[in-house]
Amino acid sequence: MAKMTIEDKLGLNKFNTNELNSHIDVDKEYLDKQEVERVCRACPAGLYKLDAEGKLSFDHLGCLECGTCRVLSGGKVVKGWHYPQSGYGISFRMG
Ligand code: SF4
Repeated sequence: MAKMTIEDKLGLNKFNTNELNSHIDVDKEYLDKQEVERVCRACPAGLYKLDAEGKLSFDHLGCLECGTCRVLSGGKVVKGWHYPQSGYGISFRMG
């Protein structure tokens, strides 16, 4: 049996995402680029992205609920974070 990659394992997880309400509130206009880049690099799911013009985008779909962005940001780029509403979120399966 071939060794599973991280991407293979993460692909086994199941999500029931509340598409209308993000459980993470992000300041996409935050001016300190170093802070923004730190959060982009730290998210294990790669949900924070900077485009060629340096504009930040974020999509809560696929969040692993690890809390890394909340702790790292300290209320700067990530203004609010809570677990998804009951019944929503990730179900870990080997990932
Ligand atoms: S909680 Fe974890 S996976 Fe979700 S956006 Fe923050 S760093 Fe990424």
